[in-house]
Amino acid sequence: MLLKEEREQIVKYGKIMIDRKLTVGTFGNISVYNRDLDLFAITPSGFDYYNTNPEDCVVLKPDGTIVEGERKPSSEVDMHRIFYQRKDNINAVVHTHSVYATTLACLGWSVPQLHYLVAYSGSEVPYIPYVQFGTYELAEACYDAMGDNRACILGNHGLLATGKNLPYAMDVAEQIEFCCQLLYNCRAAGKEPILLTDEEMAVVRSGFGDYRKS
Ligand SMILES: [Zn+2]
Repeated sequence: MLLKEEREQIVKYGKIMIDRKLTVGTFGNISVYNRDLDLFAITPSGFDYYNTNPEDCVVLKPDGTIVEGERKPSSEVDMHRIFYQRKDNINAVVHTHSVYATTLACLGWSVPQLHYLVAYSGSEVPYIPYVQFGTYELAEACYDAMGDNRACILGNHGLLATGKNLPYAMDVAEQIEFCCQLLYNCRAAGKEPILLTDEEMAVVRSGFGDYRKS
């Protein structure tokens, strides 16, 4: 079986994504790229995370060709593979429908530098207006908006998070969800949050050690 370790990691982190309340039902998806083999594994379409086994994951080339797997790959496969095709420092992608990120997605809000944990993504987390789910157009819109960031708010949809490996990408998804909740709480209190400066954020990013390699 190709990418056995990556498949096992996806199954493990799928359960973590549910346990941390980062998505609902079968929605959201996870992939891991093996740069040496130039192949990636992704969650199958429409499977409950607690009933997904390593053999249910699908292995593809970054150009979208299926190499191994009986199941249908996640409908958002383009949103994953576009990063493996174009970025040399992204080896995992996590897409969630976490509640606060999705609330902001419905309000059309990006996430300003209101907390130092925004540095998990980079700087202000961009927002893109709604694009039909499961399309290459959505994948391109995410890619274009993301720039050097690690996360993006998908209008009327959810959150996309990336990283050098799957634990990091899941941390991005979790910490940006936390920052989304903070932003919602601040505005629910009728105030705009006090923002960190670019200089302060640069210090945080350098303190994250290997962040730049992520
Ligand atoms: Zn989705």
